[in-house]
Amino acid sequence: MRIILGFLFTIMIAAICVSIYQTKKVKGRLAQKISVFLIMALITLIVNAISYITTSYFWAVVAVNAYCACIDWTLLCMLHYVEEYTQILKINRTVRGILFGAIMVDNLILAGNIFLNLVFKVDPVVVEGEVFYTAAAYQSKSLFHILVAYSLVALNAILLIVKAMKTPRFYRTQYFVILSLFTLVVVACVASLAMGSLIDLSVFFYFIMALAVSPFSLYFIPRKLADRTMNFALNDMSEMVFCFDLQGSCVYFNKRVATDFEYIDIKAAAEQSFAEWFAQNQMENKENLQWIEKKLVGGKVRHLESVYHKLTDGRNECIGYFFVVTDRTEEVENYRKEHYRVTHDELTGLYNKEYFFEQVEQVLKNNPDKTYYLLCTNIYGFKIYNELFGEASGDEVLLTQADLMRKTTGISDVYGRLSEDEFGMLVAEEFFFEDKIIQHTLTLRNEFSNSLYSMHIYVGVYVAKNLEEPVEQMCNKARLAIDSIKGKYDTVFAYFDESLLEKTLSEQKLVGQLEKALDEEQFCIYLQPQVTADGTVVGAEALMRWQHPERGLLSPGSFVAASEHTGLLWKVDRYIWEEAVRRLKIWQSIQKTDWYISVNISLSDFFHIDIYETLVGLVEKYKIEPRNLKLELGESMLMQEHQEQMDMLLKLRNYGFEILIDDFGSGYSSLNMLKDNNVDALKIDMKFLQGGGKKERSWAILQSIIDLAKELEMQVVAEGVETEEQMQRLKAVGCSCYQGYYFAKPMPVDEFEYQYM
Ligand code: C2E
Ligand code: CA
Ligand code: CA
Repeated sequence: MRIILGFLFTIMIAAICVSIYQTKKVKGRLAQKISVFLIMALITLIVNAISYITTSYFWAVVAVNAYCACIDWTLLCMLHYVEEYTQILKINRTVRGILFGAIMVDNLILAGNIFLNLVFKVDPVVVEGEVFYTAAAYQSKSLFHILVAYSLVALNAILLIVKAMKTPRFYRTQYFVILSLFTLVVVACVASLAMGSLIDLSVFFYFIMALAVSPFSLYFIPRKLADRTMNFALNDMSEMVFCFDLQGSCVYFNKRVATDFEYIDIKAAAEQSFAEWFAQNQMENKENLQWIEKKLVGGKVRHLESVYHKLTDGRNECIGYFFVVTDRTEEVENYRKEHYRVTHDELTGLYNKEYFFEQVEQVLKNNPDKTYYLLCTNIYGFKIYNELFGEASGDEVLLTQADLMRKTTGISDVYGRLSEDEFGMLVAEEFFFEDKIIQHTLTLRNEFSNSLYSMHIYVGVYVAKNLEEPVEQMCNKARLAIDSIKGKYDTVFAYFDESLLEKTLSEQKLVGQLEKALDEEQFCIYLQPQVTADGTVVGAEALMRWQHPERGLLSPGSFVAASEHTGLLWKVDRYIWEEAVRRLKIWQSIQKTDWYISVNISLSDFFHIDIYETLVGLVEKYKIEPRNLKLELGESMLMQEHQEQMDMLLKLRNYGFEILIDDFGSGYSSLNMLKDNNVDALKIDMKFLQGGGKKERSWAILQSIIDLAKELEMQVVAEGVETEEQMQRLKAVGCSCYQGYYFAKPMPVDEFEYQYM
């Protein structure tokens, strides 16, 4: 019996030693706590073994008491381990102190018990002829030891139970295994006590538990948990994951694959695709690969990004293949949308300016030997159109033009919207037909012109030859071509040529000299007489001239537009107005008080000076009659920025100035405008009546304008009258005042005075 027990204990001790050795290899606090617990368990086991094996009564007494003491310490060590393992409660210092103190007291009592036998007595028991020593049944005196030991048991059990209950089901086994074994230990212990058996049966369960703690806490369960967690993670991934073994058999695919391809036999399909792909791409020697491809999946085009990895073991031997497939369809589509948004015009869906430039550059670069025509189109007075008919109608115009461009351009043409009413187009020489483009502009004109507005579209053409030239510059040249025909009603097309650029440059140069010229009084007025039907001169229009020291006498055509753009025109205008007022003052002094002078006011003046203040200031400074100064304003002035300008006009008129609409009918032909605006006279330019073939119609229109003006008690001045015939006809339709080369060209002031006064 002793031999069998000795053998059993030796095996158990050896097993615990191995477990301690294994645990020591693991780093970390938990492993450390387990080690301590195992060492204590080992000591307990050894002491317990001694108590059975020894034949000496004294040593048996020592061993039995020591065993009881060891149980206290082992339970305490176990508590430390459980505390670390469960991580739900930190036992505070006081509790720790109390436990330690209680164990120490218990140990002292047990030590005393060796000699005094106060707690329990060790009695000899004969089993199969051999004498063993064991504690006689615990007496009430051993209550303290029981209290200490079972408190520790209870603490251990509570921690494990609470943790097992609190933790998600998924993790519960981890704690249940330890808890179950511990319960068995306790049950066995209680049973042994109750049965009064020689051998404490709990020691075997204790041994099993001790053996289980390390692997379960450190290896099996964590590893299983890790596997399961990984599996959950893989299934939860938005990516599809496939694993293949060396034979190409699909050994794993995650849930995402299953949900995405529920309608097919995934394993078979995956294996087939894998085999084909593997062979096609000769993957034997490739470690990893990443690519994105378009695939038809379930009737929908999908953009799939795949990452391939060869799986290797620790010795770098291939053990399988691994794919992560990400559905990038949404990103690709978002990118497309975003790309479309930044490259296309929102309203028309054509390329926007930047992308148009980019595309033009690309086409030119790709076809260096071909000739291309770069076209820019511009709708004359589009802003006015918007104001007259509302933005929705304006959009309609633009949409129609965009549509026409789509219909009339060839596949290789590039076209886009450059700014509000400006479109650009790049056409290869062989597809460039003027007729087609004229047709296109006529279609638009016919669709949108009406009695209030005659739509006019200009097309500027630049022949792109120099590949180095920035596209923006090419467009600017096409725009220059447009500028050269603006205001001409029978012309649609203009080609850029270098002289236009020279003209612009020379204009800009002039503008640069403008302020100095003002200081040096190089500006002056020329007067062109205005005559009545019976031929008497009643006044004159003041037209500015620049007596340039190098270039000679310059007409406004060579600098007005550029000065307007640079915001300097108002300075010249103010100078010219003062010249005119000064002349009126002189005329007043020689009793020519009926003669008037008409001055020109540009729209840009409104934005730079207070016109009312300036003109009233001049009238008051020179003490002249305001009715002798007539003000010529362009049609556009009466429409843009409405209210402020209207108020200003009214103020000027109330003060006593006469207001004329210059170049009436040239732009927006708004007869309606006359009803709303308080103006005194209309100036109609004969040049626009001369153009085009429909002369009779023009005269009919003129007739109705004059009739309407009369009804509204407005005067009509016809300017640009060049022939006797025109004069007679104007007289016939009821025009009362004329200006034009037929009577006299604009002339210096003294010449005017010499001739007419
Ligand atoms: P506008 O106000 O329409 O002036 C009439 C223009 O027609 C003048 O050109 C005049 O010389 C020209 N003209 C007069 N009779 C005839 C004719 O029978 N046949 C032809 N073909 N032309 C005729 P000009 O002096 O070159 O002025 C051009 C434009 O410059 C003016 O057109 C006006 O818009 C602007 N301008 C002239 N002086 C001033 C000024 O002091 N201030 C501002 N802001 N603009 C001015
Ligand atoms: Ca004028
Ligand atoms: Ca005019």
